[in-house]
Amino acid sequence: MDFNDTPQEAEFRARCRAWLEANAEPLDPNETAPNPLGEREDAGAVAAAKAWQAKKFDEGWAVLTWPKEYGGQEMGRMEAVIWNQEEAKFRTAPNIYTIGHGMLGPTIMAHGSDEQKKRYLRDMARGQEIWCQLFSEPAAGSDLAGLQTRAVRDGDDWVLNGQKIWSTGAHYSDWGMIVTRSDSNAVKHAGLTYFIVDMKSPGIEIRPIRQINGGSGFNEVFFTDVRVPGSNQLGKEGDGWRVAITTLMNERVAIGAGSGGGRFRDLLRLARTARRGGRPAIEDSAVRQKIADFYVTSKGLQFTGYRTLSAISRGATPGPEGSVGKAVGAPMAQQLASFALEIQGPMGGLLEDSVVPQEALWQDSYLGSPGLRIAGGTDEILKNVIAERVLGLPPEIRVDKDRPFRDVPTGPPGK
Ligand SMILES: Cc1cc2nc3c(=O)[nH]c(=O)nc-3n(C[C@H](O)[C@H](O)[C@H](O)COP(=O)(O)OP(=O)(O)OC[C@H]3O[C@@H](n4cnc5c(N)ncnc54)[C@H](O)[C@@H]3O)c2cc1C
Repeated sequence: MDFNDTPQEAEFRARCRAWLEANAEPLDPNETAPNPLGEREDAGAVAAAKAWQAKKFDEGWAVLTWPKEYGGQEMGRMEAVIWNQEEAKFRTAPNIYTIGHGMLGPTIMAHGSDEQKKRYLRDMARGQEIWCQLFSEPAAGSDLAGLQTRAVRDGDDWVLNGQKIWSTGAHYSDWGMIVTRSDSNAVKHAGLTYFIVDMKSPGIEIRPIRQINGGSGFNEVFFTDVRVPGSNQLGKEGDGWRVAITTLMNERVAIGAGSGGGRFRDLLRLARTARRGGRPAIEDSAVRQKIADFYVTSKGLQFTGYRTLSAISRGATPGPEGSVGKAVGAPMAQQLASFALEIQGPMGGLLEDSVVPQEALWQDSYLGSPGLRIAGGTDEILKNVIAERVLGLPPEIRVDKDRPFRDVPTGPPGK
């Protein structure tokens, strides 16, 4: 593990900082960091995100690891990490591009035709076309290969019918990437085909899901006889699982380590200002004990993250051990929020930004953090990954692996 920048990394960090200082307002280190969980994005936030992305793109600071022909800079992953670290110290527009740039763009690069790469990647990089991921269904999340949205050939087109759910940003997206079942006679993982779909196509109905924190970050998306041109098929017919794995592998890297550790300083700030029994909460020994526990876990997360960074810096690709960050960080985010509400006392039960300490950061976090434990792999799935692929324990028994999908009990009803 190496904690220091190499001379080249330090020079690059200074360049990032200089550009950011000239183009954005720095965050005060004593200020509460913007809440990444408050999925209350509206049209204004999307417009701001597009403007910031276009500026970065035009001046050479977007999609740093991508090839130059698609608007990138062909830099290493470590440079991208350094850029993200520095950008996070500035007040910028919300990032609505993690799915496109982190997951879907790399999937098009790996499996797309030359025409598809030319048509989509540059516009995706500049951020004026927004993309969503249409994978999960009501009965297919962790077990994604059990999905049932059908794709049937009709001339040169495909016709899609079914339902997706939890589709983040579908309501402001121009394009979606969807996995469908094109052959129910094949075994579960073999009968899938992957498409690029125009979100404005007739037959697509997007219904935002109202979240407990008041936001509507994700949606149900219904497909009724939606026509998709054959030229929008990504990869070979029946090869959709292999294409989807590329997206999912990039998803783990794009979401990165859990965000729990980063909130520790905000908790400390709250404990210093909130009062318990007429004294600052930080003077209460039970509060101090709990804060010490969080400190130890957040340092563990930080150093585990540094191990991944050191591997990236040496040119290695992070492996399944990267799941540890989210498996520990996501539950910690929820525990931190719960404890912060306790410290706030009766105020903890309110959700009014103007009244509650730290602009209701902890209320938002308390309501949003269960989602962190589900998105991009639930706690249990991450533990399975760690058990099987890091510790080498025996894999789960999978009884449906070698049967045609139509014979799998969770498959289409009546078949
Ligand atoms: C904030 C958020 C954003 C999301 N964004 C998107 C998006 O943009 N696009 C998209 O396609 N999807 C998205 N999702 C969906 C997400 O990928 C799924 O919710 C996730 O994969 C879990 O699937 P599920 O909800 O169907 O739960 P299920 O898979 O039904 O799981 C239910 C419970 O069973 C447990 N479980 C399941 N299988 C096993 C097993 N083998 N061993 C042990 N326990 C198991 C799970 O851990 C969980 O506790 C998002 C979800 C969230 C919360």
